[in-house]
Amino acid sequence: MNIHEYQAKELFDRFQVPSPKGQVASTPEEAAEAARQFAGSKLVIKAQVHAGGRGKGHFKNGFKGGVHLIDSPEQAAEFAAKMLNETLVTVQTGESGRLVRKVMIAEAVDITHEYYLAILMDRASCRPVIVASTEGGMNIEDVAHGSPEKIFRQAVHPLLGLQPYEVRKVTAALGLSGDLAKQFSKLLANLYKLFLECDCSMLEINPLVTTPDGRVLALDAKFGFDDNALYRHPEIVAMRDKEEEDPREVAASEYDLNYIGLDGNIACLVNGAGLAMATMDVIKHFGGEPANFLDVGGGASKEQVTAAFKIILGDPKVKGIMINIFGGIMDCNIIAEGVIAAAKETGLPIPLVVRLEGNNVEAGKAALKASGINITTAATMAEAAEKIVALVN
Ligand code: ADP
Ligand code: MG
Repeated sequence: MNIHEYQAKELFDRFQVPSPKGQVASTPEEAAEAARQFAGSKLVIKAQVHAGGRGKGHFKNGFKGGVHLIDSPEQAAEFAAKMLNETLVTVQTGESGRLVRKVMIAEAVDITHEYYLAILMDRASCRPVIVASTEGGMNIEDVAHGSPEKIFRQAVHPLLGLQPYEVRKVTAALGLSGDLAKQFSKLLANLYKLFLECDCSMLEINPLVTTPDGRVLALDAKFGFDDNALYRHPEIVAMRDKEEEDPREVAASEYDLNYIGLDGNIACLVNGAGLAMATMDVIKHFGGEPANFLDVGGGASKEQVTAAFKIILGDPKVKGIMINIFGGIMDCNIIAEGVIAAAKETGLPIPLVVRLEGNNVEAGKAALKASGINITTAATMAEAAEKIVALVN
């Protein structure tokens, strides 16, 4: 799960990670009102979407940039009107872009230097890793590509925790000294605490800045959380913005289904992640393109299967469905009942190939046959994939 920058600020405040004051707004009037609250300071207006690269992005209405310096409440309203309910395209959103539903008005600060600072869970070393660079700002991707030696990494032992000498190494890598080093050390320790206590999977501040008046501040924030740990953070779950997520994935998460939308046109409904991957591979092997990864799990109920089937059918790109079930724990008849219920509700307008094997398979096959729905059956996984690819083409 991800959150918006204005929400990340709440977490920064809670963990004493310094950042400029900000206020979210959904209308130009609210933007002007927020700007009035910060009267006297220079201001910035920032589009709030779950994607970076906003500064260099552009709106489909022709307006350039999702981050702007402004200097009055009137200008806040004027810029908000150009950004709100408009689609922002950045390097991270893809061509379709993201609809901007909120903007943040924040205090603008003078910048001496922009740094990059992130903490992420590194699967290779099984540790949190601090990533830092002196070359922060809007071109960090180019730096990672062109001069990777400018990116410093410091792994942290998960049980020992962040050690003072590790903090000193990161501080030195950023070339900070004196009072700035002191402020940065405190910020990093607090940020690490935030990362652990909130079960983040990644946390990125780009840029982290130093200012002419000698402060160290987080100017941007991108957070990812470990979905498996969300149950112990109701206050973070409350920040979820479902409008920023793939609607197919939102529906799937409501039914506890493991679903990931893809770009192809052959939907798969499978039990078990390994089998789901193999099914996608075999579809590709026969020249097809999977429309999704969908694992209904080992103990799915009829309701879950029905929901899964409806999510698949709700995707206009889907031109055919392949069901591939190996019932080790899963009862094949439950799959059959779920499919029949969903097909009866939706009418099943596209080809469906079913391969069932395992626990209670005879009952499942008999139920499908008796239902009268138009189903192509297959005895093996390869046969099923070959058939669905042929039907879709
Ligand atoms: P993104 O990474 O999506 O482009 P940022 O929040 O990093 O968005 O903003 C882009 C740039 O705008 C930053 O690199 C920084 O130079 C400037 N900026 C962002 N917030 C502020 C602020 N509060 N004060 C001054 N400049 C800012
Ligand atoms: Mg940024």
